[in-house]
Amino acid sequence: MLTNRLTRLTTALADQALDAVVIVPGANLRYLLNVSFHPSKRLTLALFSAAGGRPRIVLPALELGGVRAQLGDIAHFYPWTDAAGPTTELLEAVGQVFRGRRARIAVEHTVMRVMELRALENAGRQLGVELDIVDATPLLAQMRMVKDADEQAAMAEAARIVEQALRNTIAQIKPGVTERQLSHICTQEIMAAGAEGESFENLIASGPNSANPHHNVSDRAFQPGDLIVLDCGAVYRGYASDITRTVALAEPTPEARHIYQTVLAANTAARNFVRPGVTGEQIDRAARNVIAAAGYGDFFLHRTGHGLGLEINPCHEPPDLVAGSNVPFAVGTTFTIEPGIYIEGVGGVRIEDDVVITEAGCQSFTTFDRDLMIVPV
Ligand code: ZN
Ligand code: ZN
Repeated sequence: MLTNRLTRLTTALADQALDAVVIVPGANLRYLLNVSFHPSKRLTLALFSAAGGRPRIVLPALELGGVRAQLGDIAHFYPWTDAAGPTTELLEAVGQVFRGRRARIAVEHTVMRVMELRALENAGRQLGVELDIVDATPLLAQMRMVKDADEQAAMAEAARIVEQALRNTIAQIKPGVTERQLSHICTQEIMAAGAEGESFENLIASGPNSANPHHNVSDRAFQPGDLIVLDCGAVYRGYASDITRTVALAEPTPEARHIYQTVLAANTAARNFVRPGVTGEQIDRAARNVIAAAGYGDFFLHRTGHGLGLEINPCHEPPDLVAGSNVPFAVGTTFTIEPGIYIEGVGGVRIEDDVVITEAGCQSFTTFDRDLMIVPV
């Protein structure tokens, strides 16, 4: 599995006339080497050469034991001590990768810090190599968008965990409980169900607050007649789930019911539209058409979905399901489908599922009941 990813990386580097890519701890490194580091101020870099071969990892000596236990001999290690500093080891590693007078290297523009960039630039200067530095983000995003069987299994488990937690959380809804209390309950249930963590801070929006798709949890207490939006996710083996269900506390108004049925129809239409070769724009339109036909077009305030995998917070991974997203999706692409309607003074509904494109069309990792659940008072 990892060898396969490294081979694909080497090919991608060659295709783009890059000499190397330099990765810092984070989702990309986890993807390429299945290794996680403690967040640290100490210089840590992994260099992957277009020539292939084992990656070279410059790291604090105190991390060596833990990292080697995870990686074995898949990489060359260049450990540096606090007393000596990283310069010598970095030069040693970089000298093996940047050969010749010029090197075209890719780094993660949104992840790498100035500290790491300066260290690389200094190393290049000392070695007499002129560096041409480009963004590695598109290349890695492209690789990560299609998930292999192992990744899909982790995502299915992340969905199973969050659904168990969601069931237990909904069971604790009653009049007088506040959004904040239910949010804490949701966090505990996610951890109790076996998650490594929450994918993001869960969102509980009730009554009038449900009309805000990005509501910040408040101390509002639930009342009969409320719509309650619950949006939460679990992390399992680094992979995230992300689910939203909207429930009613006691019988909702006829309008709330109508909104719910419209969002459900949009969610269903979008999922039914998913197949190999479809674009994000097409799926977005499938959901949007249903909502517009019901007269709520102006109240669907966001894109239909976003990519899902190792990263969800603070940035979603590609693709986006929105107008202008015109790259055909391949089998193995994973994303959310989450249409919603939000009307101030009335309330809001969102129904969100996590899906993967299969040869046959679409498989949903989330299987939680989508019909309107009415919590009795
Ligand atoms: Zn969500
Ligand atoms: Zn989402």
